[in-house]
Amino acid sequence: MQNTIARRVLALLLAPVAVVPLNLAQSTPAADLVITNAKVWTADPTHPTAEAVAVLGDRIVAVGSNSEIGAWRGPHTKVIQAEGKLLLPGFNDAHVHFLAGGMQLDSVQLTDATSKAEFARRIGERARKTPKGEWILGGDWDETKWNPQEIPTKELIDSLTPDTPVFVSRYDGHMVLANSLALRLAGITARTPDPPGGVIVRDAQGNPTGALKDAAMDMAAKAIPPPSHDERRRAIERAMRHALSLGVTSVQNMDPDYADIGVYSELLERGELKVRIYAAPLITDVDDQAKIGIRHAYGGPFLRLGAVKAFADGSLGSRTAYFYDPYLDQPSTRGLLSDEMHPISLMRDRMMKADAAGLQICTHAIGDEAISTILDLYSEIAQAHGGADRRFRIEHAQHMAAKDFDRFAQLHVIASVQPYHAIDDGRFAEARIGHDRASRTYAFHTFRDHGVRLAFGTDWDVAPLDPMQTIYAAVTRSTLDGKNPHGWFPEQKLTVEEAVEAYTMGSAYAEFQENEKGSIAPGKLADMVLVSQDIFRITPESIRATKVLETFVGGKLVWESGGENK
Ligand SMILES: [Zn+2]
Repeated sequence: MQNTIARRVLALLLAPVAVVPLNLAQSTPAADLVITNAKVWTADPTHPTAEAVAVLGDRIVAVGSNSEIGAWRGPHTKVIQAEGKLLLPGFNDAHVHFLAGGMQLDSVQLTDATSKAEFARRIGERARKTPKGEWILGGDWDETKWNPQEIPTKELIDSLTPDTPVFVSRYDGHMVLANSLALRLAGITARTPDPPGGVIVRDAQGNPTGALKDAAMDMAAKAIPPPSHDERRRAIERAMRHALSLGVTSVQNMDPDYADIGVYSELLERGELKVRIYAAPLITDVDDQAKIGIRHAYGGPFLRLGAVKAFADGSLGSRTAYFYDPYLDQPSTRGLLSDEMHPISLMRDRMMKADAAGLQICTHAIGDEAISTILDLYSEIAQAHGGADRRFRIEHAQHMAAKDFDRFAQLHVIASVQPYHAIDDGRFAEARIGHDRASRTYAFHTFRDHGVRLAFGTDWDVAPLDPMQTIYAAVTRSTLDGKNPHGWFPEQKLTVEEAVEAYTMGSAYAEFQENEKGSIAPGKLADMVLVSQDIFRITPESIRATKVLETFVGGKLVWESGGENK
């Protein structure tokens, strides 16, 4: 296609001036794709709305009225009549666990189990269908939906799973339930001490109950055989299809295994990588990227590296998010710093190394003291290494200390946030941390007021990958239990425009790609999504019912509702 443009430009230059027609229709190369009769919301403040878009190769070449874009139509142009539907920039999910998401699509579903008995029944049923010795993983159970809200124990499932090791996660990823066979395979007994940054939950006699928190999960996870290359590829292919069906055209993959990156490379080589990936492997392996000389956003439009993912603490749900003050409903604890933070100098050294190498640092920090400690480290790095466009990120940035908003902004830290967590955690957060701390929880509006850049994501497989659920959450803050119909801390609600901006330009900025994608503007990658209703006009409550009609990546129609996957 570039050859065609080059030939036409050349023809134009070589023709005698007097003969060059000034008619745009003749001097413009024909587009490969024209989407017309759409309500285009561009995320480009200089040109916020339009009716039509022209695409040449994988890039947008023109955005304008139906008649302006009509000039780009040629005999071979594919024309899509959008029938007045809303066209948005493709969604860019700034925080996913893509392999886990793909695996979850095919694993036992426990999230909506409403009782202990149902939880056990589903695991038993899965075990009957699972070959002996193969592990049951995934699950994403949520005991807050049960009555009483009790952490499950291995006794619930042991008799149903005598030959099947079970290692099912709590939906926040910070706790698992292992059955007796899994504990045995992992060598965890009453005599095993708690690892730093983790807890082996025990009964009154000191015996493990099967529940393992944070670093203790890793002890058991070591016994799980890693997925084969084929299993990974299948899971990632499933994840890509799911993403495209929801209009997610880019994902930022937190802490992937290197083997996942291997699968991405293989798919890229075959032209089968359809979702754009930015991968942030663990900071514990910072030497690998640093020694090769990979810097932030290294790679091409479909696959890039150059970031590292660090962990400062755990989660609110597992009471491992690290706070200045104790949990109200469990005053003996104020959470746990992660094992990467023992001692903090270990984290400082790794971060200094990453920053010196030009790698972007993305740090999971949820509790106020964890966030504050990471801001201290970021500030030390900026002082030590001088001014640079480094785009530090805090992943989740969930419970802010009042004193830290200004600092967050001054250090130009990006708040990489997942609004769905707000309507989920909003069910129980106040009981855990009280009104004052809850008032600075998922404080999206306060962040914006301070000039902090937001990047939206989901943390899939922790929360649903669907952008419409995320936008609904950010705009309504209506908790999943229905108890806050007017919004939980409604002063923190965003407008639909602000939410979509954070999900497109905001996420693109968070991966150094704001000049390549994130808006529907000439020169940008043609990643777009056509949706069933105008989310800017309908009631906020209706947003989550919005369906994706068509998804385009690099100008190609890659998903169509009611149709086959392209
Ligand atoms: Zn995550």
